[in-house]
Amino acid sequence: MVTFAEVTIFHLRRAYHDSLSNMRGWLLDTSLSERLSVLDRLSIIDAWQQEMMEYFTKNGYCFACNRRVTRCTCPHEQH
Ligand SMILES: [Zn+2]
Repeated sequence: MVTFAEVTIFHLRRAYHDSLSNMRGWLLDTSLSERLSVLDRLSIIDAWQQEMMEYFTKNGYCFACNRRVTRCTCPHEQH
């Protein structure tokens, strides 16, 4: 059994894609989405993206460039 000392970018990207497809499935569920306005959906996507960004940062990676926070050169970093 392999134990990971830390969460790698591969884990984060995997979690990102899993989470994205979950959210898409949920938003495409008509019984739910019929009750949501476009603005509702946008704010859900916004909140989700914010959450993913925090998840990346918490694990030491930049959401925008997938680099280590210490090596990130993004102009508007919010670490
Ligand atoms: Zn960056």
